Amino acid sequence: MNLSGATRLAAVIGDPIRHSRSPAIFNAAFAAAALDWAYLAFEVPSGGAAGALDAVRALGLEGLSVTMPHKTDVAELVDERSPQAELLGAVNCVVRRGDRLIGHNTDGAGFVASLRADADFDPAGQRCVVLGAGGAARAVVLALAEAGAAAVVVVNRSPDKAATAAALAGPVGATAPIDDLAGSLAAADLVVNATSLGMDAASTPIGPAALTALPDSALVADLVYQPAVTPLLAAATARGLHTMGGLGMLVYQAAEAFTHWTGEVAPVAEMRRAAEAPPAGPSAGPPDAAARTDE
Ligand code: NDP
Repeated sequence: MNLSGATRLAAVIGDPIRHSRSPAIFNAAFAAAALDWAYLAFEVPSGGAAGALDAVRALGLEGLSVTMPHKTDVAELVDERSPQAELLGAVNCVVRRGDRLIGHNTDGAGFVASLRADADFDPAGQRCVVLGAGGAARAVVLALAEAGAAAVVVVNRSPDKAATAAALAGPVGATAPIDDLAGSLAAADLVVNATSLGMDAASTPIGPAALTALPDSALVADLVYQPAVTPLLAAATARGLHTMGGLGMLVYQAAEAFTHWTGEVAPVAEMRRAAEAPPAGPSAGPPDAAARTDE
């Protein structure tokens, strides 16, 4: 990377952030696209989003990625929101147009792009079950509905949050009880783990009995990407089902941001290679810190 006075800057804000794969992914993308851009990670503690956005304006950063704990604060602070960011009340990508900051949410589009590219799965007309109702789940529910899913059923430990998430899918949204998971899965074409369960060897949102209930043609997707093969995906593979890990969503949500900022098609293959590379350097932090990200 040759930095100069002409180099344009993008960055991510979050806390924790030192484990983030985004600098590797975006710097690989800028290099592959021969763009004189660079990307840094800034550790911004909770409550610091307003100051960070002022800095974006003052220093003329071209774009900003936003991860925990700032996504909802930034949605309040930007000058404009995309329709998805408006509905979700969460922003993970800020685009600067002069002095105006526009907030986007690229998580859902990233997930659907990954479904299409990595699993050859088009959500249109499909019956989908989403496990979890947090920020990532809500983005996935909205994106599946926008992609034409026939049904988006949300199953979550806290039923009130399930109802809020399901409402994002409009008429195709519904909730189902967590104690009848097998019943919900029996008719599913796609099941998505959008809970935070799966980062350690013992945790899975679906027990073996419920997994057996899935049709043989169903796709099992996990948003967790560390480990690459979660206990859920291992069990689904053993059961003979198609599976998809969460790394593709990470790559494609970044690809969407790259295009928002630069106006160019993202070099996805190079971005995926960078995402797959193990974190480097003493600042990368312990492996479990990387797994806690919501970027
Ligand atoms: P949130 O904290 O917003 O939501 C967590 C969800 O998991 C909630 O629905 C919560 O249920 C549920 N949950 C947590 N613990 C349990 C448990 N013990 N039993 C049952 N349910 C549980 O997290 P995010 O939505 O931001 O992230 C969810 C996952 O998605 C994380 O693993 C994250 O790393 C991953 N992710 C991956 C991305 C990618 O690019 N691949 C992008 C964003 C996120 P309740 O509502 O009852 O608390």
